[in-house]
Amino acid sequence: TMTRPDEDLVDGLTLTVEALLANGVRTIYGVVGIPITDLARTAQARGIRYIGFRQEQAAGHAAAAAGFLTGRPGICLTVSAPGFLNGLPALANATTNCFPMIQISGSSERSIIDLQQGDYEELDQLNAAKPFVKAAFRVDQPQDLGIGIARAIRAAVSGRPGGVYLDLPAAVLRATIPAGTGRASLVRAVDPAPAQIPAPESVARALDLLASAERPLIVLGKGAAYAQADQAIRSFVETTGIPFLPMSMAKGLLPDGHPQSAAAARSLVLGQADVVMLIGARLNWLLAHGQPPRWSATAKFIQVDADPMETDSNRPIDAPVIGDIASVMTAFLDALRPERITVPAAWREAIRERTAHNVAKMRARLEADVTPMNFSTALRAVKDVLDGHREVYLVNEGANTLDFCRDIVPMHRPRHRLDSGTWGVMGIGMGYAIAAAVESGEPVVAIEGDSAFGFSGMEIETICRYRLPIVTVVFNNGGVYKGDDLNPHSADPAPTVLLHSSRYDKLIAAFGGIGYQADTPDELGHALEDALRAGRPALINAVIDPTAGTESGHLTSLNVTGSLQPA
Ligand code: ADP
Repeated sequence: TMTRPDEDLVDGLTLTVEALLANGVRTIYGVVGIPITDLARTAQARGIRYIGFRQEQAAGHAAAAAGFLTGRPGICLTVSAPGFLNGLPALANATTNCFPMIQISGSSERSIIDLQQGDYEELDQLNAAKPFVKAAFRVDQPQDLGIGIARAIRAAVSGRPGGVYLDLPAAVLRATIPAGTGRASLVRAVDPAPAQIPAPESVARALDLLASAERPLIVLGKGAAYAQADQAIRSFVETTGIPFLPMSMAKGLLPDGHPQSAAAARSLVLGQADVVMLIGARLNWLLAHGQPPRWSATAKFIQVDADPMETDSNRPIDAPVIGDIASVMTAFLDALRPERITVPAAWREAIRERTAHNVAKMRARLEADVTPMNFSTALRAVKDVLDGHREVYLVNEGANTLDFCRDIVPMHRPRHRLDSGTWGVMGIGMGYAIAAAVESGEPVVAIEGDSAFGFSGMEIETICRYRLPIVTVVFNNGGVYKGDDLNPHSADPAPTVLLHSSRYDKLIAAFGGIGYQADTPDELGHALEDALRAGRPALINAVIDPTAGTESGHLTSLNVTGSLQPA
């Protein structure tokens, strides 16, 4: 287009920000640098909150958590090549967890990249991203920024949510076009996550199967938490009276103390249920692929999911119900004749008995008087404090720290627990915590293994810079898994060993946060209570027995141990 010298122009940077604003984006998580520094500045100037991180992976995890919590795509902004690559694990993790997220990355000069002539931060980012995402797009001219961002948003949130990559070359950000043309090219995506109404016959088939059950079970996954259909789910569970088992990030969808919760009788209900209704949960490794011996070979399955391809992925599904969970639960409630569903007393009694037995066993472990603290006694202190702070968002990663905390610390509200998720990944801690604080405005407690904390620990500076009410508790047992392994072959520490003498509390003091050292459950409880009262960034170094825990936590069977002893 010919432009008169006095005509109003708009550049790609500004159009990008306006396109995000038009689609309701309120927050960007990122790390600035060439070529997107001014994009962050422009966003901030236009009222978008920009949260700047120390490393892109944590920014990406924050965007993913924001997506999970809000149901709108979380935005992560990265620089070209290395920054882009640093963000990619978070984008892949978001895709794996079905969280809507868009990584927007600046990139270098196309013509030089494509001829591999050695540009500054040269990388074919679009193609590098593709295997890890639900969709990937590049915008090659400024008048396409509007449509590009609309496509990215739709791809991230519609159907099964996931990670989307959007490549913005520096030349497009720099380019100018007439302002009128630019503004006219903006697109506001209408209804980007349209309802998927389930077929009535699929609903009837599922309810018929449920009515035939003698030992029915509902499994709630993080898809059910994501769907924000809390009332409908609760009403279905309570109207039918069927016991439910929450996957870890679905904890709190119904409170963990709910009389129908079968969480403390997990192995019993998996092994004995004869009709299982999966709501937003996949039969992946976390559910033993639906296979015996963990599950009954004759159990029948109902699966509620947005993605038709999920059906029969691991085991035949007798009644697939394809739709978004909110629409499906509404359809179930409409079609339900409660008198048709019975939960035989023998089944309820078996679950009640096993629950009582396991709760008593757990209580003995929690009340043990041991020095130093172990995972159970430290988590009892955490649990007692959090019982009085139900608004708190809980972030949790580690091996033993994850496994013990998931079982010991109950959740009372939907979407208040964020953890290692489908991959069992380490490194989500500070990013998830920052997003939870930013998106909710509520306090956050991050229960971190000492090894897990190391992957994103530098972000405590970010927490202090934005003055976020996040209390990080480092469960310091001095190692990956445990801290007591010895290397008999040289002076080097064993591969699993970290410094047990570390004073993680002193790290946060360097940035103006409050540090606490806790050697006993009492000290830990007081420190946590005090930190929550202060509402300021804080870190508690909780000293745990280095012999506590097991290698690989609850995943010992996945660990490979060599059969040959070294000479
Ligand atoms: P968990 O690890 O808690 O068992 P998964 O991540 O394995 O949960 O499963 C989540 C499932 O929920 C995915 O299969 C995804 O397609 C589905 N899902 C996510 N959001 C929705 C939604 N709004 N409606 C229907 N299904 C959804």
